[in-house]
Amino acid sequence: MAKYTGADCKLCRREGCKLFLKGERCLSKKCAMERRAVAPGVHGAAKKKNSEYGLQLREKQKVKRAYGLLEKQFHKYYVEANRMKGVVGDNMLSLIERRLDNVVFRMGIGSSRAECRQIVNHGHITVNGKNVNIPSYQVKVGDVIAIKENKKNKEMFKELKDVKVVMPKWLEFDAEKLSGKIIALPQRDDIDMNIQEHLIIELYSK
Ligand code: SF4
Repeated sequence: MAKYTGADCKLCRREGCKLFLKGERCLSKKCAMERRAVAPGVHGAAKKKNSEYGLQLREKQKVKRAYGLLEKQFHKYYVEANRMKGVVGDNMLSLIERRLDNVVFRMGIGSSRAECRQIVNHGHITVNGKNVNIPSYQVKVGDVIAIKENKKNKEMFKELKDVKVVMPKWLEFDAEKLSGKIIALPQRDDIDMNIQEHLIIELYSK
């Protein structure tokens, strides 16, 4: 699958906010948004007035990049959200939140979504006892997400019990057992990122 291979920090500078793409570095003084919070490029520091379309585009790019999705994958969530009952924007964000790589990230198993995607890709995760190595897998209420039995002793998972994570209320995770559960579907107010999803819906509805 195609993937973005450029510098992650440039994406944050382009969107003008922290997208938390690099794990612990994002919380340190080394974060590019702490040191140089202007858009990349020669004219990055110049003040620009965004058109309505520009605002919509930036909002879409921000969310897409925060979750590490490419355009085609991201648009698919909009199409699916449109088919569902309820508010399209809420549906779309809920579908994206329910991706297995995001759930692994929210549980604190990895420090960034990119790392968590790799953890899933490398076959370290089981869902209800079965191996699942598909990052886009949609979790359901009641699903048990765990680190595979024979991977639990891996160095990267040994210190998880010391990691402080703000666990969303729709998830639970036992860092001793290295296993967690989906206790509800994510609601709009469970998503902590500042997102104006109506701008994305307006863009895609044109
Ligand atoms: Fe973004 Fe993290 Fe880089 Fe800071 S360190 S600019 S939050 S990716």
